[in-house]
Amino acid sequence: MSDDNRYDGRMPYRKCGKWGLKLPAITLGCWHNFGGSAPTANQRAMIQTAFDAGITHFDLANNYGPPPGSAEENVGQLLRELPRDEIIVSSKAGYLMWPGPYGEYGSRKYLLASLDQSLKRLGMDYVDIFYSHRFDSETPLEETMGALETAVKQGKALYTGISSYTSDQSIAAIQTCAAKGFQPLIIHQPNYSLLNRWIEKRLLNVTGLHGMGVIAFCPLYQGLLTDKYLNGIPAGSRATVTGSLLREGDLRPEVIEVVRKLAELARQRGQTLAQMALSWVLRDSRVTTALIGASSPQQILENVECVKKLSFTREELQQIDAWTSS
Ligand code: NDP
Repeated sequence: MSDDNRYDGRMPYRKCGKWGLKLPAITLGCWHNFGGSAPTANQRAMIQTAFDAGITHFDLANNYGPPPGSAEENVGQLLRELPRDEIIVSSKAGYLMWPGPYGEYGSRKYLLASLDQSLKRLGMDYVDIFYSHRFDSETPLEETMGALETAVKQGKALYTGISSYTSDQSIAAIQTCAAKGFQPLIIHQPNYSLLNRWIEKRLLNVTGLHGMGVIAFCPLYQGLLTDKYLNGIPAGSRATVTGSLLREGDLRPEVIEVVRKLAELARQRGQTLAQMALSWVLRDSRVTTALIGASSPQQILENVECVKKLSFTREELQQIDAWTSS
């Protein structure tokens, strides 16, 4: 049974750019901890905890696992226990899924076959948002965007988006959709956190100008922007997981020193570092939602509390800039 109080105002729902779709300030991503070997009871507890806390948006991709595809199978089964019309389910295609020339990147052949496979694994008729997961320099945008348009026309996706496209690639994609009369892209999914601020240079202006929403992935820098690594690498943490992209090089002493200062500032604000890192990503209204990962329900409960304090003083922002601007 879901919590009847899940829409009691604790979770803000923010407009995705200029569009009618509203997304929760916090989205749950299922890249890690939802694959084949992850304990089912913990997966179910995380999904239910998220939904009860007002998180209505669940982010997937064809390749999430391991093995690739298993997260869509597992999470699809759990999401089917929730009311379909109350949730937003996203998936993507772009990275390697099967051997041969049609198993990755941005061709029409790959994207539409991959979406069919995703829907089968999810056990759903449609996804709410379907993304081109990465730019493909060998395929004309007319073809990649045309495949997204076909997904919408076929009723297999309601909205479309792009992930990790640079500012120039995003402008080209937006213009292609406009020129061809395709449904506009409503959302961009870039990497964005206190330790990775690349979208501030230009992309946020591009998305803002075109009324696109932004969903910031890895807002906790895969866990580095929490108290977790302040005193070494704890057993079972992301940094110890084989195949994880969080590398020991990310945990350099000078980085940990910055994290330590941020943790102290968070304490002064009455937040945990994880909460402050999420509040900071959401301080700019052009960022629609922070796309977190989690390995336990407790982490989700801690993180959603960030919405209680989304504003920063000018002094706090200046301090943060001095530590984190590159
Ligand atoms: P985060 O930066 O939010 O890192 C999540 C990890 O941080 C958790 O797994 C956990 O690590 C740790 N953590 C979270 N909350 C806390 C807490 N309160 N206290 C201590 N540790 C905490 O995001 P992810 O790297 O997981 O990425 C989020 C989502 O973004 C993915 O699931 C996916 O949907 C999307 N994504 C998209 C990409 C793209 O190319 N479009 C690329 C990468 C991600 P631990 O396991 O160590 O406990």
